[in-house]
Amino acid sequence: MSQTESPRKPLEVRCPSCGEMHLYSTDNPYRPFCSKGCKAIDLGAWASEEYRFEAKPNRDELLEDLTDDPGH
Ligand SMILES: [Zn+2]
Repeated sequence: MSQTESPRKPLEVRCPSCGEMHLYSTDNPYRPFCSKGCKAIDLGAWASEEYRFEAKPNRDELLEDLTDDPGH
């Protein structure tokens, strides 16, 4: 018998963290990430406040800028 292609192609997914294509496997406890490291990075980013700080302008700084003008 010769090797034939499997009718079911393994599902490949892109790791949301590093962007690498990898096989989506139920054996992978870190899916849809490719590895433990990538999952940790992603969860860490969302858990931290850094995302929000970077997304929004510093409001206090803006207010200070406006109130810093003593009188026009
Ligand atoms: Zn990855």
